[in-house]
Amino acid sequence: MALFFIVVSVHAQQEKAMYDSLDLTKFKSGEVHEFWLKIVDDGRGVPMLVPVIVYKGKKNGPVLGVIAAIHGNELNGIAVIHTLKTKLPDPSQMAGTIILVPGLNIPGIINEQREFNDGQDLNRLFPGKKRGDTSQQYVYNLYRKLIVPMDYLVDLHTASFGRTNSLYVRADMKDEALRNFALLQPADIILNSDGAPSASNTGSGETLRAYAHRNNIPGITIELGNPQVFQTDYTDRGAEGILQIITYLKIIKGQLNYNNTAQVCVKSYWIYTSKGGYLYNVPELNKQVLKGDIIGTLKDSFGEIIEEYFAPENGIIIGNSSNPVSQTGGRIVHLGVMKE
Ligand SMILES: [Zn+2]
Repeated sequence: MALFFIVVSVHAQQEKAMYDSLDLTKFKSGEVHEFWLKIVDDGRGVPMLVPVIVYKGKKNGPVLGVIAAIHGNELNGIAVIHTLKTKLPDPSQMAGTIILVPGLNIPGIINEQREFNDGQDLNRLFPGKKRGDTSQQYVYNLYRKLIVPMDYLVDLHTASFGRTNSLYVRADMKDEALRNFALLQPADIILNSDGAPSASNTGSGETLRAYAHRNNIPGITIELGNPQVFQTDYTDRGAEGILQIITYLKIIKGQLNYNNTAQVCVKSYWIYTSKGGYLYNVPELNKQVLKGDIIGTLKDSFGEIIEEYFAPENGIIIGNSSNPVSQTGGRIVHLGVMKE
């Protein structure tokens, strides 16, 4: 009889503290603090706990926040933060504070879905409402407890289900610090954007980035790849880019590496199908297309062509559909435009 052994290396998991609020003045300087932050209660009266890691530098300086998975199935940002942790020096060598939040939308992560567990998109509800519905109160508490202590924000996302994204940055390029944040990313594409979402804005509020910026917490959004997966090529670049922001803010010392290869887009938009069917011929990510190039062919169940779609102007493919089943109004490509 053959015996099989499963090799498991067990690491001691340290019990983490639970806090009601994030008061940076209470944390000891020059140390890392890891804890759970209570946001709201679930339906059993048990707190929903968000994991928080604080690097409190020995010296004073700016407070940078890096948050992941406000959309619960957008997981690459969690791996970015885990990778970043392995690269950060000891906080005794830092001037400033870094707040890392590897997983914001707790029910969304557990349910493997973009939305909160009442079906709402948290990133269309900022600033939330103190006496609002479940999502609105989650957002309200999240913002007040976690975002308000930050000076700058990096919000990590991926494409939604059925779509893929390049590694691209959404940043307000008019703002000097944010322009530098963006240009320091080893991204494929940089999109000048003031914080409006790439498509539908159906919630009762606005995106975290737009709301926070108007309230003097400027930030960028970094989109990395696909939903519900860890993609090392994207997450390694994500961690490298955030390390560059930390260096730019002089929280740590190091060399700045500006990216001269990213395509900078002045605007972007989604192109949708106008009929239903199976979608073929969608161009690859980062491909530059010319006005009139084919960007999609819609076929019926019998393989007959229903409609063909063409690029309305020169541009670059920021995101595309990875799901051939395309109802009327289905997304084809997210087209970035480099020049007006
Ligand atoms: Zn997202």
